Amino acid sequence: MGLDPTHLFGDQIAASRIGARFSSMDTRALLALAIEHLYADRIALVSSFGADSAVLLHMVAQIDRSTPVIFVDTRQLFPETLAYRDQLVDMLKLTNLIEAAPDADQLAMEDPEGFLWSSDADKCCDIRKTQPLAKVLGRYEAWITGRKRFQASTRSALSFFEAEGERVKLNPLANWDAAQILAYLAKNSLPSHALVAKNYLSIGCLPCTSPVRPGEDARAGRWRGKGKAECGIHLGTLNAGDGI
Ligand code: SF4
Repeated sequence: MGLDPTHLFGDQIAASRIGARFSSMDTRALLALAIEHLYADRIALVSSFGADSAVLLHMVAQIDRSTPVIFVDTRQLFPETLAYRDQLVDMLKLTNLIEAAPDADQLAMEDPEGFLWSSDADKCCDIRKTQPLAKVLGRYEAWITGRKRFQASTRSALSFFEAEGERVKLNPLANWDAAQILAYLAKNSLPSHALVAKNYLSIGCLPCTSPVRPGEDARAGRWRGKGKAECGIHLGTLNAGDGI
């Protein structure tokens, strides 16, 4: 077929074809292929340590505990998320946790009181999430996300592989549903994020996350009432290394 998953050069059609080729592959096997062969030493898992994060963290730990795990700490996270991060890192013996954090000088200038989220959420996400992640991702050719089609209508066509500039984005859980996630957590005795029991089904920053009501999308509690569905990390604007 001549399709090379390691060099997509922003070609989303090629990425979708490659995704279709790997769509029947077992999730853990796909992850192992990516971490050990396709992008060996050039791939990182980006984890929010949110509601479903334990699944990928567990699989990655089984493959190679030293796989880089990037955690974006916006400095606006729930204390429960920080506690869950520490619990999972300890339990899974992850040895390469990398924090991506906003620049302190930029925060002092542009969001000194920590309320930018209320007046300009896009800018807040840019300086607290997108820019810090872009800086850390600059050294990798591929990254793994935990996004899933069932989470929101805006993710219903999510492909296993995405071409994002010069970088490849891998979504190994794209076709998983909520029941599969719960079954995996139970089967492997993995703890849940403390806020899941309070109906937080997708967990971001404290000021911008609310519980989900029955019948709503899993991500309905993110930026509720603000007409915003993504933080920018997944809008194709992330181009780490190009000075965004
Ligand atoms: S989710 Fe809210 S608080 Fe967090 S970075 Fe975005 S706007 Fe800011």
